[in-house]
Amino acid sequence: MTTTLIKNAALFDADTPELRGGSEVLIEGDRIKEVSDTPVTASADTVIDLGGKALLPGLIDAHVHVNSVVVGFASLENMPQSLVTAKSQGILRGMIMRGFTTVRDAGGCDWGTRAAIEQGDFLGPRLFIAGKALSQTGGHGDQRSPVDMPYGCACGFFPTALGRVCDGVPEVRRAARDEIRKGADQIKIMASGGVASPSDPVDFTQFSLEEIRAAVEEAEAANTYVMAHAYTGRAIRRAVESGVRTIEHGNLLDEEVAGVMADHGAFLVPTLATYEALGKEGEALGMSPESCAKIEDVRDFGIRAVEYAKRAGAPVGHGSDLLGEMQRHQSREFLLKSEAMTAHETLVSATKTNATILNRDGELGVVAPGALADLVVVNGDPLQDLGLLQDQGAYMPAIMKGGVFVKNELI
Ligand code: ZN
Ligand code: ZN
Repeated sequence: MTTTLIKNAALFDADTPELRGGSEVLIEGDRIKEVSDTPVTASADTVIDLGGKALLPGLIDAHVHVNSVVVGFASLENMPQSLVTAKSQGILRGMIMRGFTTVRDAGGCDWGTRAAIEQGDFLGPRLFIAGKALSQTGGHGDQRSPVDMPYGCACGFFPTALGRVCDGVPEVRRAARDEIRKGADQIKIMASGGVASPSDPVDFTQFSLEEIRAAVEEAEAANTYVMAHAYTGRAIRRAVESGVRTIEHGNLLDEEVAGVMADHGAFLVPTLATYEALGKEGEALGMSPESCAKIEDVRDFGIRAVEYAKRAGAPVGHGSDLLGEMQRHQSREFLLKSEAMTAHETLVSATKTNATILNRDGELGVVAPGALADLVVVNGDPLQDLGLLQDQGAYMPAIMKGGVFVKNELI
């Protein structure tokens, strides 16, 4: 097995508020073998002296849509899956070059893309997929315009849709089981109205409690969990009390329901970057007028939700949820979150906490013996300046995934 020894690193540690200078990391194959504050004695095929540069675990984004290759679902509707997949290659490459070595897809991506990355056909992050997101009729995953239209088949209204429509407990069970059959790592449901859909104001709740519980039961039967799109305290409470594990966006969370989340151990996955980007660029990029009008309902409340969750003790993960061309703003999330979190807390959310969400504690989001060797080298100290994570990885001279450099300007 190939071995690499990294010397003189300033190591990020989720349990220490400052970087740990003088650290050494020995990598064997795709895993980290040893992490030490004193010189590692083992010999290695390659030795790299970082000269005090920062070393972070690979970053994790827990809410992306790699198949959202264009803004405006109407445009996606007219594309065959082959073109969407071809275009997703650029999006995946952009993500890993920003230091995101793992991402969780929140709807749209199938196991083919995950396999293409694992088999080396595509360059990209490790993928945890939801398959198609489950939505009720008229919900956030129902993209039909609000006129009489056929219900269509239960498989969604067009092949490249990010979601599928199901109503009633039997259909929800079948849809959840079908996504698990097709290799979903987790199940995604739409539990409230949304911005990028035509018929559902953000303060609507979606799915009956029985339907949400059915999705949770099917996910748990397959040893996984449900992630739910939800904005208001009312929608979040219904989801969390029905067993949903992660709340996506959560912008209109209130203090009382933040306490409910903490009691249930539910995670908040804020996605502040997408609302900023939609506000600035959504209209020009083809977002519908109905959707643009809804951005204001949620945009400025996202950071308050992070504060409420933090205060209540509900764990805060890290997402971005950007669509199409706006995906280049993925790293803005770090800067936006820093209004409510320290830089250290922000990085913990994008590493250790997100690894917990993925049920990969100790394997991802940490530089420790036994963990996968996903590493990012940063010029300077990101705990002092989160700007070092911006600009498409410009200040990241090296990025490693599974023991292999995907970028290395150090040697
Ligand atoms: Zn959503
Ligand atoms: Zn999303």
